[in-house]
Amino acid sequence: MITLRGLTKRFGTATAVDDLTVDIGPGQVTGFLGPNGAGKSTTMRMVLGLDRPTAGQALVNGRAYRALRHPLHEVGALLDATGIHPTRSGRSHLRAMARSSGIPDRRVAEVLDLVGLDGRAADKPGRTLSLGMGQRLGIAGALLGDPPVLLLDEPVNGLDPDGVRWIRRFTRTLADEGRTVLLSSHLMSEMQQTADRVIVLGRGRLIADAPLAELITAG
Ligand code: ADP
Ligand code: ADP
Repeated sequence: MITLRGLTKRFGTATAVDDLTVDIGPGQVTGFLGPNGAGKSTTMRMVLGLDRPTAGQALVNGRAYRALRHPLHEVGALLDATGIHPTRSGRSHLRAMARSSGIPDRRVAEVLDLVGLDGRAADKPGRTLSLGMGQRLGIAGALLGDPPVLLLDEPVNGLDPDGVRWIRRFTRTLADEGRTVLLSSHLMSEMQQTADRVIVLGRGRLIADAPLAELITAG
């Protein structure tokens, strides 16, 4: 469960996220739709404790990220590929992440298997791994702690059709497993493919929040 309460972020005089109040619950894909610059990433970064709200709250399972006792077991994220070291193999990257959180090494093999990367775990992201495989690696990392909440920021950007299909299918599986999935995109077509509910953001403000079917009918 993700809870945003009056969530606001200002950078200087610019307001990136403006008084956002919304609950995002389990068992469905909640799409986060808005043009570039609408505030989607900033919202996700505040949920992950990577940006501090100017006002309001971003809670995961009722707590601020900083107050989570075992963050990787509560929330996972695929942000821009920033967390991944291109000089490290996928397996060693995930091992380091697991170790720093007290997650056993065998879970690394499990998550690589889940995303279909088991045979390619020695490849280095950015070098021999394609962008699509890098995204899978990022998702494997997000799943290390088997968290009930997942944030996927523009996960299909730049992927080839196979990669896009894989992400869409996998996202559906995650929701069907009962997880809370928040998936951002600037494309309505992506919402139509993947989302059950759509939250529309414009200039940091909530513009619409509706089941996908309603949003399509409303045009
Ligand atoms: P989106 O993910 O929807 O593309 P962002 O959350 O990345 O939107 O950006 C929202 C707004 O906040 C944009 O105007 C962006 O330029 C601004 N912004 C984001 N991060 C920073 C930052 N670190 N410093 C200044 N402005 C920022
Ligand atoms: P650092 O040690 O640099 O703070 P972390 O190991 O905490 O980095 O996170 C690495 C990257 O993973 C971050 O840059 C962020 O994009 C992403 N991230 C943050 N929190 C989580 C999470 N709970 N699950 C998965 N990825 C996360």
